[in-house]
Amino acid sequence: MLSKLRASVRSVLATSLVLLALSSAGVTFLVAAPAAHADAGDRATAFLITPSLAVARAESQAEAAVIAAQGVVASRTDMAELAGRKHLAAEAVQRDAVFQSSVARIDDTLKQKMLQNGIWRPDAPVSLDQLRVITMNFWDFSGRVETGQLIVNQAWATQVTKVFKMMFDARFPIHRLDPVNQLRQTSTSALAYDNSEGFHARTVNGGWSMHAYGLAIDINPVENPWVRAGVATVPVCGGPYAGRPAGVTGLVTPNSIVVKAFKSIGWTWGGTWNSSKDYMHFSSNGH
Ligand SMILES: [Zn+2]
Repeated sequence: MLSKLRASVRSVLATSLVLLALSSAGVTFLVAAPAAHADAGDRATAFLITPSLAVARAESQAEAAVIAAQGVVASRTDMAELAGRKHLAAEAVQRDAVFQSSVARIDDTLKQKMLQNGIWRPDAPVSLDQLRVITMNFWDFSGRVETGQLIVNQAWATQVTKVFKMMFDARFPIHRLDPVNQLRQTSTSALAYDNSEGFHARTVNGGWSMHAYGLAIDINPVENPWVRAGVATVPVCGGPYAGRPAGVTGLVTPNSIVVKAFKSIGWTWGGTWNSSKDYMHFSSNGH
């Protein structure tokens, strides 16, 4: 029996990663993974040893490896159970998620990112001191809670946070809330990236947009494009949504919570404009 054990021990040792750990019970040997090509005989031998017997005989790392091989089998079952429980816990956390937010000044790290991506520039009509970044969670397009950021004029940070809380509580889905992603280099690509954004030092018709003051917010630009004469002008990839098809995730409609939420703080929706329709756009003064 002992010689057979030693033979199997050598086999396991040769092909297994053995780790040494100290526990309160004394020295314990752990094996990371049993030998993939250890034959059935080796495994059978290992499993014949009861844990107490094996511990008593664990005079070498090699013998401990056999003990550990048993442990690995047990822990795999445990891991599967644990993973299942974690999954259920994560689902529960999602289901019970509550809105969380914080408002902060623009720090140096964010300032650098804003400069790199052209979100802010020195000739912008507002200084960084006049802006705030809201960090908050939101429901994404796959029904999960994510954390994102939105930069707005400091005068409206608290009110805008309330708007997003209303949207969160109603589980209105937002595709992205990411003001400084590297993919974004121009205002057009920013919109095609389907980012919901507030402040952005961009121009419109030769003047500063309300976004350049942090006084406008776009929601899901692709699904809610700026439509002129029935055609999605910006972003062009919003074309399929120019006709406002029902049932689209993230669509802003006259009765949607988004319109109601912004209306509650006195902001107006570009979807009510006459000359064109800017379905993504909300602003403090209607422009
Ligand atoms: Zn806009």
